[in-house]
Amino acid sequence: MKEKYVLEYSSAMVDEPVIYTLVKRFDIKVNILRAEISSGQEGSMLVELEGDRAKLDEGRGYLASLSVTLLPISNSLRVREDACIHCGSCTGVCFSGCLTMGAPDWLLAVDRDKCIACGLCVKACPLGLIGLKFGE
Ligand code: SF4
Ligand code: SF4
Repeated sequence: MKEKYVLEYSSAMVDEPVIYTLVKRFDIKVNILRAEISSGQEGSMLVELEGDRAKLDEGRGYLASLSVTLLPISNSLRVREDACIHCGSCTGVCFSGCLTMGAPDWLLAVDRDKCIACGLCVKACPLGLIGLKFGE
C-alpha cells in the first residue's frame, strides 16, 4: 500500500538517517515529492511511503519515537467552504474525486480521504479559498 504524508522534523534530526532507516530496516520505499528546509535546518517533506501494512506501522512508530510528525496529506487540505461560491473550478481539475459537485444541490462536497495532494485545486479557485501544504 502507498500513503502520502507531510513529514515535519526539527533541527535535532538533521544527522539522523531517517530515509535510509525506513528503507533498510522497515523495507519501506520512500518517494520524496517535495522538501523545504529552513535556515535553522528544521524542515518538512512531502513523502510517499510504500510497503506492507505491518512495515508501514513499524516505520511510523520509528518516526514517532524520533518526534518526527507525520501528517496525512489529506489533513493539510484546507477549503474555506463558508466563502465558497460553488463555481466548480476546483472540481473540474480534481481527478481524485476529493472535490465534487453534483445533483441535486450542485454544492461543493469535500472528501479529504481521496485527496492525493496534486495541488491543482489551489490555483484553480478564483477566490483563493483552498490551501494545501506543498500545494502552492
Ligand atoms: S490537491 Fe488535487 S486531489 Fe487534492 S483536492 Fe486538490 S485537486 Fe483534488
Ligand atoms: S473553486 Fe473555490 S469558489 Fe469555486 S467551488 Fe471550488 S472552492 Fe468554491
